Amino acid sequence: MNKIISRIKGMYDVLPDESWIWQRVERIAEETFQSYSYQQIRFPIVEETQLFHTTIGEATDVVEKEMFSFHSRKGLPLSLRPEGTAGCVRAVIQNNLCNRGLTQKLWYIGPMFRYEQPQKGRNRQFTQIGAEYFNVESAHADAELILMTARLWKNLGLPNIQLEINSLGTSQSRKAYREVLIAYFQTHAELLDEDAQKRLLTNPLRILDSKNPKMKPVIDTAPVLSDYLDEESKEHFQQLKSILDSCGVSYTINPKLVRGLDYYSKTVFEWITTDLGSQGTICGGGRYDGLVELQGGKPTPAVGFAMGVDRIVEIIKDLNLWQQSNESKTYVVVDKSVSMEFVYELSERIHEALPHLKLFMNQNPTSFKAQFKKADKMGAQFAIIVGEEEVKTGMITLKSLREKEIGQQSFEFTEFINYMNQQH
Ligand code: ATP
Ligand code: MG
Repeated sequence: MNKIISRIKGMYDVLPDESWIWQRVERIAEETFQSYSYQQIRFPIVEETQLFHTTIGEATDVVEKEMFSFHSRKGLPLSLRPEGTAGCVRAVIQNNLCNRGLTQKLWYIGPMFRYEQPQKGRNRQFTQIGAEYFNVESAHADAELILMTARLWKNLGLPNIQLEINSLGTSQSRKAYREVLIAYFQTHAELLDEDAQKRLLTNPLRILDSKNPKMKPVIDTAPVLSDYLDEESKEHFQQLKSILDSCGVSYTINPKLVRGLDYYSKTVFEWITTDLGSQGTICGGGRYDGLVELQGGKPTPAVGFAMGVDRIVEIIKDLNLWQQSNESKTYVVVDKSVSMEFVYELSERIHEALPHLKLFMNQNPTSFKAQFKKADKMGAQFAIIVGEEEVKTGMITLKSLREKEIGQQSFEFTEFINYMNQQH
């Protein structure tokens, strides 16, 4: 026996008993985004490593310890994308999508890769759906994105999801706060864990994001960014809150919400569920006005979010929110004496005329009894019976498997097509 090769740690197969949930989440997301006039963008899974260093920031968990990096055959450092914004912004710049002040409302879906400790809701390959809105400076864009995510939770039927928002201010105002924060943490240096001590000078705001419960007291009494906000950011935040209020979207202001990545400015937000335990953030986003310029493009304000599809699927499964719809299949029951050439010619004609019909062909026809049993087991609604009689007459014999009183009917081909079209 050859050795079985297993999947890589933290990466999972989505099997047929669950793939329908993923497909439905993706379909509802796509429909929701389309209803707000967002268009899909697709960009590569692999990019130059430098892109992520520049975009996400050197002193972040993602860049410091979570990237899947390797070299191309020519020695170029490459990485699997750990998130979508970096590649999306690169694509927008490279394809001139925002030239001459053009606005863009974009969304994407795809696998992301982070070398993390796998646990419930935290995988090494996971799927994100995200959206990015380019070239609108006002909080109206932030508001639209948040409203669109709120709409998506409604369309998916997800309960218990709460919105937290905060403003990080402009990068200038954040500099002043940074100094105050460093000074504060320095006077409490003995209370900082190893991670925080490392972050103190490189990325002190990240300390506020610490998940270590021992750090909570020192974080709770830390100075808050909102006391250092510039006027422009205050107004921006006010405008956002006012639109959310007018639409009845409730939120809490979390002054410690800083988000993991470096590129944010002004608005940041997270949607958090109480249904998943500690991995409760299902969506995070914010404004990143400086990022396009940082990547070499023209100054272009932008705002976006990304949500974890794995976690959304977990909620749907854990709370048993959805039932799989009973697909109506039609099973082709074949008499062993009939040539497969005849059977295939017929089934291809049916596919041609009824592109949406789900036909199940058994490539190994056994007895009628065994075939009907199989058809029953898969919950087929109809059986098409192909025997010697049908070969001779060219008629189609249809048996209703669910409504037994209808029984067996015989049709000319076009009658059969009309009948099937009337069924749904
Ligand atoms: P966390 O604090 O949970 O590590 P994050 O701040 O690193 O999240 P983001 O970079 O904001 O996450 O990604 C947006 C969303 O993608 C998260 O809210 C989460 O739903 C999902 N996500 C992030 N990392 C993972 C992962 N390793 N496995 C599954 N989903 C993930
Ligand atoms: Mg993370």
